Amino acid sequence: MRVAKFSIAGEARFGLVDGPELVVFKGHPLFFNYETTGERVPLKDVQLLPPTLPTSKIVCIGKNYADHAAEMGGDAPKEPLIFLKPSTSLIGHGETIVRPAISERVDFEGELAIVIGAIAKDVSEADALDYVWGYTIANDVTARDIQDKDGQWTRAKGFDTFCPLGPWIETEFELDGQTLETRVDGDLRQHASIDLLIHKVPRIIQHVSQAMTLLPGDVILTGTPAGIGPMESGEVVEISIEGIGSLSNPVE
Ligand code: MG
Repeated sequence: MRVAKFSIAGEARFGLVDGPELVVFKGHPLFFNYETTGERVPLKDVQLLPPTLPTSKIVCIGKNYADHAAEMGGDAPKEPLIFLKPSTSLIGHGETIVRPAISERVDFEGELAIVIGAIAKDVSEADALDYVWGYTIANDVTARDIQDKDGQWTRAKGFDTFCPLGPWIETEFELDGQTLETRVDGDLRQHASIDLLIHKVPRIIQHVSQAMTLLPGDVILTGTPAGIGPMESGEVVEISIEGIGSLSNPVE
């Protein structure tokens, strides 16, 4: 099932993606048992929103592909390395990434994102997948020069618009053998198998839930593979994961 969040007539709603249409859910599908209103809306007529809640937190894992850790000039961390992005950095599919004036270099980072479906605290690796609602795609946009200057990552990764997320949640996504690709204006920049994640999804959920309670709607970005690079104004960045779809955002 593909669950999208969208805005229509100024109102945020959730919908089931059914080909070129959305079937509108009554409320949040997890809290209203997937009840629909029966109303159908053409997908092309709506603005897709990040498929989260206003209270969702965005947990991120750093350096979780060996080739990316190497391109950043270091070893991959032995344990999953956690940081957070603020919810105000979220934008949906098609919305514009705004490069802040104080940065000379703003990079894309294509990533698989886990969406949590149940309250998770101290979850074991064996049980971890029971807490996953589905998966979506994220761009962990990073002001690389500010990241280097600050020595920690909150500001560099926390600007408004720095977390494109979507286009929707795929609840039946199978992790094995899937490929992630990032294109800038159609040019292939990242191409990696999700199988190359150093810390796999169950380990990530175990590790994060040991530190903080995860709530339904929370999102965990799993890290980016090699090939990161800058985005310039006027370019369009598209991240695709087989089995989920494509997240595309223009840059300003
Ligand atoms: Mg990242």
